[in-house]
Amino acid sequence: MQRSLLYGLLILMLFLIPGGHSSLFSLTGEARSGPQPFSGNVHSAIIPLTEIAETLHTTSPVDDYFIIRGEVFFSFPLPEPDLLKDIGHRLSVDRLENDSVYAYADRQGFEAFLSTGIPYQILPPPGKVDFDLNMKGLEALRGKDLSDSWDFYPTYEAYIDLMYRFEEEYPDLVRIVDIGETVMGRQLLFAAISPDPGQRRPVPQFMYTATMHGDEPVGFILSLRLIHYLLDNYGTDPEVTWLVDNVDIWISPNENPDGTYRDDNSSILGASRGNANWVDLNRNYPNPVNDPAAEQQVETTAMIGFTDTIPFVMSANMHTGIELVNFPYDSWRSHQRRHPDHDWWEFVMYEYVDTVHHYSPAGYMTGMGDGVTHGGDWYVVYGSRQDYFNYYRSCREFTLELSDRKIPEPELLPDFWGYNYRSLLNYIRQATFGVQGFVYDNETGQPLEAELFIPGHDSTSMAVWSSLPFGDYHRPLYAGEYSLRFDHPDYEAIETEGVEVGNYERIRLNVALGEDAGTRPVALDVQKDGEGVIFPFEGLQYFTEGSNAHFSALADEAWEFEKWGVDGTDYPEEQVSFIVTEGMEIRAVFKESDPVFVQEPEQPLTRFSLQPNPMSSSSELVLGLAEQETLSIVVHDMMGKPAGHIFDGVKPPGEHRFLLTNLYGDLRPGVYLLTVEADGKYRRVKRLVKLP
Ligand SMILES: [Zn+2]
Repeated sequence: MQRSLLYGLLILMLFLIPGGHSSLFSLTGEARSGPQPFSGNVHSAIIPLTEIAETLHTTSPVDDYFIIRGEVFFSFPLPEPDLLKDIGHRLSVDRLENDSVYAYADRQGFEAFLSTGIPYQILPPPGKVDFDLNMKGLEALRGKDLSDSWDFYPTYEAYIDLMYRFEEEYPDLVRIVDIGETVMGRQLLFAAISPDPGQRRPVPQFMYTATMHGDEPVGFILSLRLIHYLLDNYGTDPEVTWLVDNVDIWISPNENPDGTYRDDNSSILGASRGNANWVDLNRNYPNPVNDPAAEQQVETTAMIGFTDTIPFVMSANMHTGIELVNFPYDSWRSHQRRHPDHDWWEFVMYEYVDTVHHYSPAGYMTGMGDGVTHGGDWYVVYGSRQDYFNYYRSCREFTLELSDRKIPEPELLPDFWGYNYRSLLNYIRQATFGVQGFVYDNETGQPLEAELFIPGHDSTSMAVWSSLPFGDYHRPLYAGEYSLRFDHPDYEAIETEGVEVGNYERIRLNVALGEDAGTRPVALDVQKDGEGVIFPFEGLQYFTEGSNAHFSALADEAWEFEKWGVDGTDYPEEQVSFIVTEGMEIRAVFKESDPVFVQEPEQPLTRFSLQPNPMSSSSELVLGLAEQETLSIVVHDMMGKPAGHIFDGVKPPGEHRFLLTNLYGDLRPGVYLLTVEADGKYRRVKRLVKLP
């Protein structure tokens, strides 16, 4: 035991000698036949230690290797497809390249591999690099101008600090969400970027995550930089502003910090692919073919639990080891089974890679020839996150491989950003295209959770769902003409035919379920004068003929709503409902607030906040009054029907709190408007949301 420990230390020392490991592990000997013990590799590489290693060798060679790390990285010649399939899922295949397989294995997997008799070559762990990683600690990173070059790797503390600092510096644009702990108790964080942080909006939900393989940190840095880029450019760069306004962007820079900071929190040197239990998290998800090899890890459980609460439309997860984009499925070759949106995938993937090629030197991102591959055509993998999201969650996710070298020198990181950031933004933008809209009950206007299935196109697992509280759905689609079927257990399904979609186009189709709702889409162009928000949408959109359209108008600060004009008839209520017919003219009119109300006192409401929102039983409305007022506080649904009274009466100047516990119990899930009216002097409205 003592001897094998000593032997382990010798190997460990060799990892740590700068430059030493390259001669240790870059073995050039011909492939050996038959299973060879690990000591065989050491033997041929380190002449001076050969004798010692041989002498000290008392336990099995596999034991010796796994004393140091719980995973081994090695390569072997590409075997027959059947044999690869057979052993492949017991290993963690990293990539196939030049007729070689590069793989990681835990002890069991490696023992299973040895029994095949395939010759192999042990390689240095990619996390053991021999250059300066330019690790930046908490203080160093706090002092750094982040608009400047990102040519470093952060320590664990600096990473966590940076995430919360984003929230401190941009409180109106980002919330940091902790979704759970790793095996070792490190934090799994998301940055949720939105102009209304913490609020659910009826816009596509989008997710980037990186470094579920702990020793692949390029995406870690690019994700952090992307968060900063979006926050820093919001309000000045029109493209960034539009994206953030139209998409809820969720970014988790590191899904496996236990692997990245394997040896200690101060450096990524020694990072591992697996988590603290040496499990490959990208083989750990439910999959449609077989059971994952390892029991579900807490990192996987946290991710599944969190993403179950958010209807993600599109996502990607970032890796290194090769340079390409890999689109679904991983579980099947493309001739066996294709994603129903295979054409869309090719279109979006070539948009990504062609843009990268335009901004990078020749040769970058050309894995598998042109940098684009269907996952299973590269190699079949069971339990990948990509297939989990595509197959079980109807979320379109691909795998982004950013760098041939798992851990490149830190000074190269700005180049990877330069090659990729436009493509990262383009991919987010794709979530806004295709068909989207609201599904609701024709009589009550209540939003519905309905299935959208495209007959003749979708497979059963690919339907998307509208989600509460808004009833919004988002379906990216490749250009073409489609029939869309909307289905809900309590209603008769309807199918709208002939919906034409173009690439880079957003078609808005709002669908009513229930009696009298037709199937033919009718175009409505909803316009407005002045400043305010129209729900569900402003501009050109479609409703099914004969359905009831429900609109509500919410004035911006310093504006107030005046009237709706529907086919020449005026409606002074914020909410209107009417039966849709072809060629209607609809306009919402807002006017600037009467200056009398805002001049004296200057701010009639010194505070008007509603939190938390979406509601909980402890939600509270806080009003700050500049002077005594006779108040009426009411809640209406989106059709203008009263849904609850909060207060009627007189309140003195100062701050007043109204607990919404009773209201919470009474309201059905949905969207409401809360109105505060001060004796005809002024009126303020806020949107109130209740989740199912
Ligand atoms: Zn990877």
